[in-house]
Amino acid sequence: MGEIPAVQAKKSNYTPKSVIHQKYGSRACYKIEEVRESVQNSCPGLAIPQQSTCLFRCNLQLPELSVTSETFRRKKDAEQNAAHMALEKLGIQPTTDSSRSQDAWDELVARISYLFSDEFLSWQHQPQHPLIGHFRAALRRETEERGLLPASIFAAYDMKINNLCKTINHKVDREPHLIVTLIMKAAGLSGSAAISLGQLWIWKQSLYSSDILQALTSQPLSSSEGIWIQAIRIPYSIEKPVEQVALYISSDGYFIDSIAQKLGLTDTSQILVSRTVGKASSEMRLYFSALELPVPLDSSLDDLLYAKAVTDGSFNERASYFSSQNIYGNAILASVGYTWRFPDLFHEDVTLGTYYRMLIGRLPNGSYKLSREAILLSELPEAFTTRSNWRGSFPSDLLGMFCRQHWLSEPVYCITSITDPVDSSEASQASKKLKETNPDEEETKYADGGSGDANEKESIALGGSFRCEVKILSKGQDLVIECSPEDSYRKQNDAKQNAALKVLSWLNKYLMKLDMHVEKLSSGETHGLHFFPENFSKEFTLCPSVHAGQLASVLRKCSLWASSCMDQLNTTQEHSACSFKIEGLDSGVFPSNGSLICISYVVSLVREGEHMKEPLESSDEFEFEVGTGAVIPQVEACVTQMSMNQSALFNTGLPPHDFIFAAAGDSLMSILLSSLDACFLEYSIFLLRVTQALEDRMEQALFSPPLSKQRVEYASRHINESCATTLVDFGCGSGSLLDSLLDIPTSLEKMVGVDISRKSLGRAAKALHSKLSENSDPAKPSLGIKSALLYDGSITVFDSRLSGFDIGTCLEVIEHMEEEQAHLFGDVALSSFRPRILIVSTPNYEYNSILQRTDLSNKDEDSDEKMQSLPCKFRNHDHKFEWTREQFNKWASDLAMRHNYSVEISGVGGSADVEPGFASQIAIFRRGPIDVECSENEDIVHPYEVIWHWNRS
Ligand code: SAH
Ligand code: MG
Repeated sequence: MGEIPAVQAKKSNYTPKSVIHQKYGSRACYKIEEVRESVQNSCPGLAIPQQSTCLFRCNLQLPELSVTSETFRRKKDAEQNAAHMALEKLGIQPTTDSSRSQDAWDELVARISYLFSDEFLSWQHQPQHPLIGHFRAALRRETEERGLLPASIFAAYDMKINNLCKTINHKVDREPHLIVTLIMKAAGLSGSAAISLGQLWIWKQSLYSSDILQALTSQPLSSSEGIWIQAIRIPYSIEKPVEQVALYISSDGYFIDSIAQKLGLTDTSQILVSRTVGKASSEMRLYFSALELPVPLDSSLDDLLYAKAVTDGSFNERASYFSSQNIYGNAILASVGYTWRFPDLFHEDVTLGTYYRMLIGRLPNGSYKLSREAILLSELPEAFTTRSNWRGSFPSDLLGMFCRQHWLSEPVYCITSITDPVDSSEASQASKKLKETNPDEEETKYADGGSGDANEKESIALGGSFRCEVKILSKGQDLVIECSPEDSYRKQNDAKQNAALKVLSWLNKYLMKLDMHVEKLSSGETHGLHFFPENFSKEFTLCPSVHAGQLASVLRKCSLWASSCMDQLNTTQEHSACSFKIEGLDSGVFPSNGSLICISYVVSLVREGEHMKEPLESSDEFEFEVGTGAVIPQVEACVTQMSMNQSALFNTGLPPHDFIFAAAGDSLMSILLSSLDACFLEYSIFLLRVTQALEDRMEQALFSPPLSKQRVEYASRHINESCATTLVDFGCGSGSLLDSLLDIPTSLEKMVGVDISRKSLGRAAKALHSKLSENSDPAKPSLGIKSALLYDGSITVFDSRLSGFDIGTCLEVIEHMEEEQAHLFGDVALSSFRPRILIVSTPNYEYNSILQRTDLSNKDEDSDEKMQSLPCKFRNHDHKFEWTREQFNKWASDLAMRHNYSVEISGVGGSADVEPGFASQIAIFRRGPIDVECSENEDIVHPYEVIWHWNRS
């Protein structure tokens, strides 16, 4: 059994795992393996033969290596041991003592010495160290540079050297020139390497033994043909476009020489190699030329270089932005190199398409789009409702990726459990800190997978709720953003994802407002989000110029694209019914907020006047949740006017060009680059499927008859009991109540609906119109209706045409408004509209725990969905609040008292006498007897707009 590593001693705050976490975050994957060890063997004297202890071993996988720990009694110790072993391999010292830098320097000299030793060079085991490939290629040169290696490759391809350099001087992290000077100095002292003065070559001082030379150079070439690879040239002048270049690497050549040549270097030793950019395991790097180094070299070199480069304009902003290192002059972005994984030279094309995808992938919205492979259609949603409705990468993954790309520390989440389920909104209550994902505790992925699930189940313990805080720190641990949203959730994961999403949305807003000064942003802070302008601008200096400078003013103009298109759309909608060309029969199955829908689509680039129509992006099945902003606003607006099996066609202006370039295949790039002036995008959409919103499914699955039907029955009973002839439905939506009332006999003669959603009113008009104009069958229950009207207007605003009706209904509406608006509606309704009877229904928050507990035994739902049956705090993410019985009673009785009404509380679904009461709570207000004065004094006000009017002729 292994010893617990000394570094875990109490005084040290840095455990090996925490150091690994800082560096790799969730890319570090720990797998625990159980090892049974018989006690009998180890303690032969004891008479407990059958018993065996369970021991654990841990395998840690990092992008560049994998280690397996010794065995331990505790999983934790095995993990720490694995982390410790990995750190040793990487050359990272987790201790922080003062002699560290001197020690690191000695180690650096020793490491370089080792790399030129026979021991290292004769190491023929697989996987091979990447540097061996460089030695081999350099020795194959037939020129006088035979065996010479550029200094820059040592830090780029040996993690240990790279890390030692960082320990010696943390500034090397940003400044590759500093690494090269350190390496040259250390090589000069190493005893086994020689260096050139004035150039940046390093070579083996002593002659290679013939065995080693033989072993290094005799390996047969994998192919006799050379290879062509595509790479990208990024000019330092931001006005000049990036362009694709082809590199030829001959079969016995050294790829670094080919790149140097492309950069126009006569001396390959001057080449500098960046860290890898892009994915963790990528070999994509930037190559550029070293500047003339001033002598003597010192540690303020980076400031000097930077200042000089900025003044002479040779600082390469785009390249620097990608690597988070200072890059000067023209750069080449290529994906080629020797790796641990392949014996031969690894290579991949980097095309303009790759470049633009990388560029937009650095914006939160862009990386979401990429994760959905729908660059021109999807958008980073505004809300995370449920895990099962979310498509694409999760917010926490996107945020982690964002931090890695922008060279920040991994995000730190702190989840708090709130004990009282009901008053979760009150900040004052006792809350217990549940889980801080400080590096030690960060979600460990165990191989058995079972423990993760168990946590999930625990984390939705009934009645509790969770809140989550996120911190974004720089690599130097300066706080950049801190976000502590007030909202609480029933599931830990929902709290975490929503917090991550909040940060992402804010970052996205910032990155789209490129011309905005950082200080100004602080005024735009949303609640709970704080950012630290000084630290923030330090980390994001290049971001605005790269994203804006890239296509100059185009991008800035286009950031307003979506909103201006929407404006245009709204204005055209007011005049003509709709700007979407919708075709196909209305199937009656349509999406509403919270529905999960599936579409197929094609987006094409069309050039006006010509016959050019190039498909840019398409999908046979694309799913999203309506109402969360998961697609561009035009698509959302379009699908909400469609029903299943209909198709639609509409045009938009062009989005930021980066997005078009990223979406277009590489073959299209040339056409696109020629001119986008007279072009627009055409969206063609087909609505394949609609899955109802969770709230609706729940109401149907758990209640018989469905809750919505019970509300209609409740209302109709009161209509008939009171012999009402006039009815106004406040917040009528798509007219479900009015429509159902036409199917049953009632005393009604006039019915009116009001809503603020034109879309819903359109549907209501359609449904009512067809039902009322059906040839007057004398047996039809709707025959009594003489007139029906639909108004567009807010129910918190009075319109005198709706005053004094017999009955008013307001079913499941108030929870969709802010609480103060709900209070306002109550006052306006009872003081101005003054119906004889007003029926108001809204969900009972206390009942949610029952809904939560019950399985939705819908056949098409998997077990995950069952777990998720009530993932958000409220039944529907569009709800602004849900009241307990006490809150509802108070609202209703205060209101009734103020306006001389009586009130009675009841409900549907469940029972008043059984905890926790009705599923839907209902208040019936009845107007008191003295009412003459008020209605006489009323002014005539008509703020509502008539949308549809029907009269029996
Ligand atoms: N009463 C309907 C619809 C409920 S959904 C039914 O039971 O099916 C809530 C509706 O309230 C939505 O259609 C929404 O547009 C509407 N609404 C929200 N705030 C409103 C306001 N201030 N004025 C009018 N309607 C409103
Ligand atoms: Mg509702």
